[in-house]
Amino acid sequence: PFTVYCLLFTVYRLQKEGKMPIKKVKMNNGIEIPLLGLGTYAITSQTDVENALSAAFEAGYRLIDSAAAYNNEKQIGKAIKKSNVPREEIFLTTKLDNWDHGYDNALRAFDESLKNLDMEYVDLYLVHWPITGKRKETWKAFEKIYKEGRAKSIGVSNYTVRHLIELLDNAEVIPAINQVELNPFCYPKEILKICKENNIIVEAYTPLARTHKFMHPLIKEMTQKYNKTPAQVLLRWGVQHDAVVIPKSSRRERIFENADIFDFEISEGDMETMNKLDENLRSSEDPNEIE
Ligand code: NAP
Repeated sequence: PFTVYCLLFTVYRLQKEGKMPIKKVKMNNGIEIPLLGLGTYAITSQTDVENALSAAFEAGYRLIDSAAAYNNEKQIGKAIKKSNVPREEIFLTTKLDNWDHGYDNALRAFDESLKNLDMEYVDLYLVHWPITGKRKETWKAFEKIYKEGRAKSIGVSNYTVRHLIELLDNAEVIPAINQVELNPFCYPKEILKICKENNIIVEAYTPLARTHKFMHPLIKEMTQKYNKTPAQVLLRWGVQHDAVVIPKSSRRERIFENADIFDFEISEGDMETMNKLDENLRSSEDPNEIE
């Protein structure tokens, strides 16, 4: 009952006090990205998409993370149009599907995504996974799309150190973002390091570890110490690693709860203790191990 009370109080407070100020960070191309966005994996029906986006916009979210592979671009495009939020306020991401690598394929797939979204541009276009043999050609297509202004920023996802080194050796445009699986239980330090050195912002997917570790004793201890929920502690950990976090929820009260992370700070000591939770826990494949 106490947790339910806390959540209802959060929704009430956020609604009463207005939208949460979600901080932004500048990417290497000078464009700002909000530090918190809404993940949309597995939100597919028009009603669910509209309800989730409407709650997210109300809670102050402006970043929406989609992908061709999620089969929800059309629904998201419609939901954005139906909302009262001006397009220029929204930061919309979509991703290239694995089957669409290669120069011509990537250009065609991007056109298809824009058509599905019914938009003139996206804010961020990501290579969803590093596919062997096609990565360099694909990135050339991304650079063209970027130069044409049809994607305001371009980036990659699931790129490990070796994929990034290969890309940086060949790229004309440095990726603005690398979206990777990141939470205290999956903490690829070497990727964070190379991204920082090259001014690439890390975006944390599965930042809640899909709730699997909410009952971990250390997470429970942190919730009591900071008077926050497990989701808020995990998201705050990501933000304090300078990562953009994109938790997925289709539930209004959780969407509000996940946005309430900018009024507390985890101490340096507690961050270090949480860092030690890393066990390479994966919800997606480990990109180190697939080709
Ligand atoms: P996640 O955000 O770590 O966890 C989502 C799960 O947590 C859902 O089951 C959700 O259920 C639940 N949840 C959300 N907020 C909660 C809260 N406050 N309390 C309790 N439960 C809560 O996992 P994810 O969906 O894998 O990752 C987030 C986003 O990252 C995806 O949606 C997608 O946009 C992106 N992603 C990208 C890649 C990639 O390869 N680039 C891979 C995976 C994910 P309800 O919906 O029922 O609330």
